[in-house]
Amino acid sequence: MPSFSPYRVREPAACAENPGVFRVFTARTLEQIPQLAGLPDELRFAMRVVAQVLPFRVNRYVIDELIDWSRVPDDPIFQLTFPQPGMLRPDDFVRMADLLRRGADAEAVSALARELRERLNPHPAGQQSLNVPRLDNEPLAGMQHKYRETVLFFPSQGQTCHSYCTFCFRWAQFVGDKALRFSAHEADRLHAYLARHPQVSDLLVTGGDPLVMKARTLADYLLPLRQPQFEHVQNLRIGTKALSFWPHRFVSDPDADDLLRVFERLVAAGKHVAIMAHYNHWQELETATAREALRRVRDTGVVIRTQSPLVAHINDSADVWARLWRTQVRLGLVPYYMFVERDTGAQHYFEVPLARAAGIYRDAIRRVSGLARTARGPSMSAGPGKVEIQGISEVAGEQVFQLRFLQGRNPDWVQRPFYARFDPTATWFDQLRPAFGEARFFFEDEYEAMQAAASAA
Ligand SMILES: *Cc1c(COP(=O)(O)O)cnc(C)c1O
Ligand code: SF4
Repeated sequence: MPSFSPYRVREPAACAENPGVFRVFTARTLEQIPQLAGLPDELRFAMRVVAQVLPFRVNRYVIDELIDWSRVPDDPIFQLTFPQPGMLRPDDFVRMADLLRRGADAEAVSALARELRERLNPHPAGQQSLNVPRLDNEPLAGMQHKYRETVLFFPSQGQTCHSYCTFCFRWAQFVGDKALRFSAHEADRLHAYLARHPQVSDLLVTGGDPLVMKARTLADYLLPLRQPQFEHVQNLRIGTKALSFWPHRFVSDPDADDLLRVFERLVAAGKHVAIMAHYNHWQELETATAREALRRVRDTGVVIRTQSPLVAHINDSADVWARLWRTQVRLGLVPYYMFVERDTGAQHYFEVPLARAAGIYRDAIRRVSGLARTARGPSMSAGPGKVEIQGISEVAGEQVFQLRFLQGRNPDWVQRPFYARFDPTATWFDQLRPAFGEARFFFEDEYEAMQAAASAA
């Protein structure tokens, strides 16, 4: 892999456009990004190679305000948004690079791109079959209901983001693979399902990014939930990275004020409205627009909770996490989850061994006050549930990971400590084996029975 550092970066071309106007670049327009003109040809070519296979989309706010171009390619936000040579395995990279150098036709390029994507585990953790809820025996394609209390909803108008994260585990949805795309066409089915499931206390609207939707559309999904038949749906969560990637969404977009009014009306109706904000690095919290957006959202009575995966090249250091959490708490945000990077896409580039992840979490959490210790993790969203690594210890002479379910497909699994043999290289749950010479983890028989029942249905 090529490595080019340090760079001499050309001054960004003076930009007469209003920075509050959304402008986005994709694989096709990569070469038009002024800042890239200062980078070596070889790196620009490598970006094009990777962008054939994995999604690429970045907007001008991220480019102009979040990335420190004097630190490229090490800058964390550059790593977060721009295709990196190491994201493809070396053999795959060479095959795609050869095609492009030979000027192969678009058909050949997209055929190879499809082949390479297939090998990147596009749908981790059985999302397509096991979690799809049914209404009158019809599967609801735009929803998931895995944990008793919480329904996930993927509105079809929210299946993109203001920029794409290079490590995104939902990447398959963004590369035009319709078969893999979750979508829901109607609010009606969501509302019917919620009305019939009184055990559901939380609705989590997610994407892509649901805040790419117009305020009007979001209102159609959410405002009806103020009616009495939805009394049990107490908590409305919106998973978004707009506070980071496009804070103008809450400040100067044409319907920014309308969006805030939707939040206010839900809060006034007695709902707990939570923005589950995705932040990977404290650099995302430093701009004037980001601060203004936070102030405006908090003024509506919405609670902002934060989550992020732990990702190599972006935030794999305790310093970064401690500063991220400290900054969040100072700004009134509530740290919620640290995730382990999932087993999909360019995981080989971004993954951090579980043992190291546990060390980074512990190191960071020790340095912050109790107000920031609300962040749980490192947590893996695996097939049977969300599994947290609680720590590494020695029990009966054996070195072990202590684990617990934060969420389980069976709620009875939650909060029971269990143990896996220590493995310094393991990066995901399926690589762990029970400690103390046991053959299976306590939940495995039951989980297999659930899988068998689902595939029989
Ligand atoms: C994480 C997650 C939730 C929400 O879990 P909380 O612990 O309540 O935040 C719900 N559904 C799925 C599928 C999830 O992965
Ligand atoms: S904001 Fe979320 S869904 Fe969008 S690209 Fe990033 S990780 Fe993926």
